[in-house]
Amino acid sequence: MDLVELTGVRVARTRDDLRLAPGEAFLGGGSWLYSTPQPGLRGLVDLTGLGWAPTEPLAAPEGDGGLRIAGTCTVAQLVAAAAGWPGADPRRTSAAALVRDCAEAFLMSFKVWEVATVGGNVCLGLPAGAMISLTSALGATAELWGPDGERRVAVTDLVVDAERTDRRTDEVVRALDVPAAALTARYAFRKVALSPIGRSSAVVVGRLDVDGPTPGACTVVVTAATRRPVPLRFPALPTPVELAAAVAAIDCWYDDPHGPADWRAGVTPVLAAEVLAELAGGAGVSGPGAAA
Ligand SMILES: Cc1cc2nc3c(=O)[nH]c(=O)nc-3n(C[C@H](O)[C@H](O)[C@H](O)COP(=O)(O)OP(=O)(O)OC[C@H]3O[C@@H](n4cnc5c(N)ncnc54)[C@H](O)[C@@H]3O)c2cc1C
Repeated sequence: MDLVELTGVRVARTRDDLRLAPGEAFLGGGSWLYSTPQPGLRGLVDLTGLGWAPTEPLAAPEGDGGLRIAGTCTVAQLVAAAAGWPGADPRRTSAAALVRDCAEAFLMSFKVWEVATVGGNVCLGLPAGAMISLTSALGATAELWGPDGERRVAVTDLVVDAERTDRRTDEVVRALDVPAAALTARYAFRKVALSPIGRSSAVVVGRLDVDGPTPGACTVVVTAATRRPVPLRFPALPTPVELAAAVAAIDCWYDDPHGPADWRAGVTPVLAAEVLAELAGGAGVSGPGAAA
């Protein structure tokens, strides 16, 4: 894609370099920026020159055995790093397996996987944002750097609508911070799409905390089917009726060529029930979302 108004790309080396001039935007992997016309875009500020470690242990005061994922961490780097996470074993229920499931939920070629960043994906706020599904389920908090300081926002609050986030144009997603309990939690993942490798129409991730401040607590996060991530939180595993009632109360179903809103509202409870059954110990459940 030719960016016809682009006059320059500068590489940020320090935090001072992150002050944007009019018409400038931050450049992550460029997989979206270079894929579609960008009216008014006159300059790019390449974040990869900042040299942030793709992943690293969370530093104090947030540090509690958790993990920091840099905004510039690519999907491929995250998948590679997750293989070494605590509790990363061949279990389908581990956080590492969830990373892989979410990464594979991307509709993209291998080339895009190599360059697309976690920060770029979250910033786009697409309902099918696979890294939004992931970081929402992990309970991650985004650290935003702006010209006037820093702030921290839960990913589930940062993405406010389809392709709309609470991030100001001049704020950088420095990192997505994952609490320790998320790394040892058990997960169940379901995705459905209109074609076998199509863009996600509904993604449901269930999480059952094993350690941390709320062992036994359960969160079911709905993405892709909804305009924004919807976390459904329960103090313990809900009953199927409780979960169905919570899903039925969702009021932001998404409608696009990858699925009408009423179909998404219909299929999501099926995926949620499968996720619950798996978390409750019924692994091996199969259904419409399992193979997608
Ligand atoms: C073939 C193809 C398939 C795709 N499939 C999917 C899909 O299934 N799901 C999906 O969600 N997307 C998809 N995309 C869109 C896009 O590639 C991804 O969302 C990708 O993760 C964006 O990351 P990036 O690093 O390439 O972002 P970029 O293109 O670099 O930037 C995206 C936006 O985020 C801003 N930005 C980037 N990084 C930061 C940061 N750290 N802080 C602040 N702002 C930042 C940029 O200014 C820009 O506005 C696809 C794209 C292509 C070309």
